[in-house]
Amino acid sequence: MLIFFSQETSNIPELYKIPFDVQQLSDFAEWEKNRIVPSAFVIEGNDHPYVSSILGKIRRDSEVFASLCFSTVLLPSSDNSLFDGILPPPLELQKQIEAAQDLSRSLKGKDNYLTHQGRLINYLWLRPNYIVQPWHEWKNPRFYRYPLLEAMSLDQSDSFEWLRNLANSKILEPVSLLDRQRECMYCRSSHLSFVDICPNCSSIDIKLQPSLHCFTCGCVDAQDKFMHSGTLVCPKCHTHLRHIGSDYDRPLENYSCHACHHAFVEGDVQVRCAICEKDMNPNELILNEIHSWRLSDKGRTIAFRGEVFDLSSGFNQLDFISRELFIHDLDWMMVMARRYPNINFSLFGIYFANLPDLVELFNHARLLQMLESFAQRLRNLLRTPDLSTRTAENMLWLLLPNTDEQGLMGFQKRIEKSMDMLLEESEYKLDFRFITVNSQKLSNKENAELLLARLFGELL
Ligand SMILES: [Zn+2]
Ligand SMILES: [Zn+2]
Ligand SMILES: [Zn+2]
Repeated sequence: MLIFFSQETSNIPELYKIPFDVQQLSDFAEWEKNRIVPSAFVIEGNDHPYVSSILGKIRRDSEVFASLCFSTVLLPSSDNSLFDGILPPPLELQKQIEAAQDLSRSLKGKDNYLTHQGRLINYLWLRPNYIVQPWHEWKNPRFYRYPLLEAMSLDQSDSFEWLRNLANSKILEPVSLLDRQRECMYCRSSHLSFVDICPNCSSIDIKLQPSLHCFTCGCVDAQDKFMHSGTLVCPKCHTHLRHIGSDYDRPLENYSCHACHHAFVEGDVQVRCAICEKDMNPNELILNEIHSWRLSDKGRTIAFRGEVFDLSSGFNQLDFISRELFIHDLDWMMVMARRYPNINFSLFGIYFANLPDLVELFNHARLLQMLESFAQRLRNLLRTPDLSTRTAENMLWLLLPNTDEQGLMGFQKRIEKSMDMLLEESEYKLDFRFITVNSQKLSNKENAELLLARLFGELL
């Protein structure tokens, strides 16, 4: 079955009536009445809003998001990357449909593909050569968009943030580097303007000013102050300046500030963000690399084996550092706290005792969603210098610098609140345990490795 969307009656569907069943609809709402899943969709015409709206709804639908979908006209828009190309002739179409159906049959664990990540893997699995391309759009605050990622996440996740997670978990791999751009440190926009300012008072009122330097008295001043009815006369010692090099020369200071009268060779540069209107130094800008991406071997393995859910990926947003680095930093903090009494830090452990059992109770997708939203809440509780790591799939550690006993109690209260939500979501089936310690209660004999092992032992 082929479903054709078109605004007016056309004869294209006629050509496909021999090998296929053909249905003609005018809009997506009409399809939604019966929700017949076809072998492929075709959207006819070049009316951009019409085509774009139907295509967007197909790609965001929970059932048909990964369906083959063809256009009849090549549109110069980001929508092209969500089409499977121009509608091929019937025989070729038949082949493409069969290939997609074969791939679809080999995709395991289909009920698990409910999360954004699952949908993306499913989509890419059905299109082995698909490259996730960024679309350049000057109106976009970041200049680039990834239309496929927007559609697969139902516009809910920030594409760049999501890409970072997908790359960290090695589900996508970069294909080629397309651009490198600097972005606002506050809002990550790349709409920036660069303004020269006075290095002394930061005023923008500076001007390139030709100046002269009198050799007789050493006076340096603006060139027009030396002009005297067509000849050059020093404004200070009144010497006639005739020969450049022997009487006078041009000094290096060439700019002058109208606000503070400072003279200088090179102004400072200030960056202004057009979106959030904040100012910053050029060296504070964040460098972002724009890549195209494809499904990695690991991503393919996940699709093939049906293991969409590496449960621990639920915690991905916590920006874990490696266990080794965490232990190294913890050791260093322990040495510092022993040496300097005013240094105070805390260690916080969260142990999820029964994650594997919960997989049996809920499905993977639901459990993963619960963990993801917990990780999101936890992330909001952490400050920039806080470190986190994971020593087992279900054992998280947080290292909180500059946190005393009281701060630790406050932190625990906030985590407990967030845990209450997780508990409720898990219908009170989740078994979790906390362990905390403040640096003032540490023994002098333990190192970080031993400390973590001892605390973990207490949790079991
Ligand atoms: Zn002079
Ligand atoms: Zn100035
Ligand atoms: Zn900004």
